[in-house]
Amino acid sequence: MTDPVSASPNMAPPPLRRGPNQGRPPMGGPRRFNNSGMPATPARPDGRPPMIGGRPPFQRSNRPPMRGGAASRPAYGNQQQSGPTARVGGLPIIQKRSAFHAAAGVMRPRNAPDFNTPIPAGYDVQRGDREAVYFEPLVAPTADSDLKLKIYALGGLEEIGRNCTVLECGDDIIIVDVGLMFPEEGMPGIDYIIPNVATFKGREKNIRGVIITHGHLDHVGAISHVLPKIGNPPIYTAPLTAGIVRARHEEYPHLPKLNMVIVQHADERFHLGKNFIFEPFHINHTISDAFGVAIHTPFGPVLITGDFKFDFTPVNEEPADLGRIAMYGSKGVLALLSDSTAADIPGHQISEQVVYNELDRVIGNAESRIIVGTFSSLLTRVQIILALAEKYGRKVLIQGRSMQKNVDLAHELGYLQFKPGTIIDENDYNKYRPENLLILCTGAQGEEKAALMRIATGEHRFLKLEDNDTVIFSSSVVPGNERSVQRLKDTLVRHGANVVHSVHMDVHAGGHAKQEDLKLMLRLTKPKHFMPIHGNRFMLAAHGRLAAAVGVEKENIFIADNGQVVQFDVSGGRLTEERHPAEYVMVDGLGVGDVSEVILRDRMEMSQDGMLVVIATIEESSGALIGAPDIISRGFILIKDNQEILDKTRALVQKIMDESDHKSPAFDEYIKTRIRNDVGQFLFNQTKRRPMVLPVIIEV
Ligand SMILES: [Zn+2]
Repeated sequence: MTDPVSASPNMAPPPLRRGPNQGRPPMGGPRRFNNSGMPATPARPDGRPPMIGGRPPFQRSNRPPMRGGAASRPAYGNQQQSGPTARVGGLPIIQKRSAFHAAAGVMRPRNAPDFNTPIPAGYDVQRGDREAVYFEPLVAPTADSDLKLKIYALGGLEEIGRNCTVLECGDDIIIVDVGLMFPEEGMPGIDYIIPNVATFKGREKNIRGVIITHGHLDHVGAISHVLPKIGNPPIYTAPLTAGIVRARHEEYPHLPKLNMVIVQHADERFHLGKNFIFEPFHINHTISDAFGVAIHTPFGPVLITGDFKFDFTPVNEEPADLGRIAMYGSKGVLALLSDSTAADIPGHQISEQVVYNELDRVIGNAESRIIVGTFSSLLTRVQIILALAEKYGRKVLIQGRSMQKNVDLAHELGYLQFKPGTIIDENDYNKYRPENLLILCTGAQGEEKAALMRIATGEHRFLKLEDNDTVIFSSSVVPGNERSVQRLKDTLVRHGANVVHSVHMDVHAGGHAKQEDLKLMLRLTKPKHFMPIHGNRFMLAAHGRLAAAVGVEKENIFIADNGQVVQFDVSGGRLTEERHPAEYVMVDGLGVGDVSEVILRDRMEMSQDGMLVVIATIEESSGALIGAPDIISRGFILIKDNQEILDKTRALVQKIMDESDHKSPAFDEYIKTRIRNDVGQFLFNQTKRRPMVLPVIIEV
């Protein structure tokens, strides 16, 4: 195995050809330009002088032959002109080179077509009038009719959460995001749900890497559970995300350490096996360091947006790298996999600047103490709150372990900026007047044990609600938590607090591209194929309609189920009926995957109508019942108020025993089944309830 990733998983493989300037800006950081306003130009790999807007003398391409010849190259065929003076239809076209090209040294225009090859479709000019410049694909295209690229999701296509997308080509597998999902109704006792990775059994060594787009739990939450099961492959992610993953992983000290490869720069590039090259591109979201993923494959580049929005006035980070995203579009994108969370919401997503202005108004107008509840992972929001606290001379007290942890981590890595002394210690809390205090805490979802709930119910160690407190909910209500949030608000208002919860501060509305943004992503990337990800089916379908509306061919839009394979080969791309297992894997306490559908059904049954245990002691030799059966009821009926039903149940059990043949080899099973059925039916007739009936036979 020669690829650097598998050879040394702890080492970042060296990026491909890089420009002379090694002091590159961080992800999303300022782009490098030279004095002329043009991007800096690298020396070319072969040492020849740099090209500026021009191109090398004609030369024969030494690229491996592409299938079908030049005429069938539309995926990569690029109709850019080669020089600053090129003209199309009388309009001058200035060839631009992005900083990305300059830094990575990737722009190596080829003189295709030369005069002996057919001019690609779409060119209607005279030969000799102009020539087209092709971008060479990063991964050589294949003519191998056996090679296939398979794309499928192990989660995130039938739900919000547990996002996990897989690409397979030849012997190479890469995974993008390994998230968790919180339980839905009907999953009592379950902590969360993680992707099913059974499909990798026996193929662990082929996994070249796991790319993590950002630090939200629906993208990182299952890493500690899943990675050790799939051979602990290297994780490629940005610094803040890596910090969040690491901190979470420390809660499982018995697990092996994770192999992290930190993706520092927007112009880095990693070989993942023979068939994949990964490049991150900067997008906006509600947490710093989120990136989209470009995967170059033998069939063309696949773009995965991750969670994203376009924010032209973001807080504390750069706007999304539109230029780079458009560059992929101009090169030809094989497939776009895009975030569908807000695909059914019209319009443009609001900027964090709007949230800032709104919070500015609320915090600026508050007369007494302020309590802000939000998600600990919503770091752009936390930044806004800290900045506004400073603006209005308030000290910030942080409550909630996860909030404290994330703020410390993000501050240490330079993603959160605040002045020394802005955040105060608990012990100093009493030194400040209410109008100079802001409490930043977890629990805006109405979580039982979180700080905000404890404050509201008077169970907090030292914080009590006071009249004129302003309580700001700065995050959306996660579906399923509506009622607990409502109860929490009721409690707060009853104690005299002024509760503020605005749609503009809604995280789900806030972090994800809405319809017009999604169209912009589609227009910029111009994908040949489109596969919506991250959302319930109706969101995916809505996103599919958007893609059709902006010109993606209907048969190239793939709305897949979890596990369902979208396949590309030399003849094109299609949604197949091949399916990988993608059933829920449930985590309950320390148990992973040991709570099955059967257990859940039992829990549901017990939670509906309770349970009734029938304990019958029989004599081993004769099969005769010894004494009356014991009956225990939990959650079904009160025994002391229902003697008659219990007596009749005992008589029924006696009758079943009398009628059964003790000598039969299946006696034990038979008797249990009959007790379950007959007693169940009897109890239903009497009470119209269906408790779980649990027969226990003791032979003495
Ligand atoms: Zn997210």
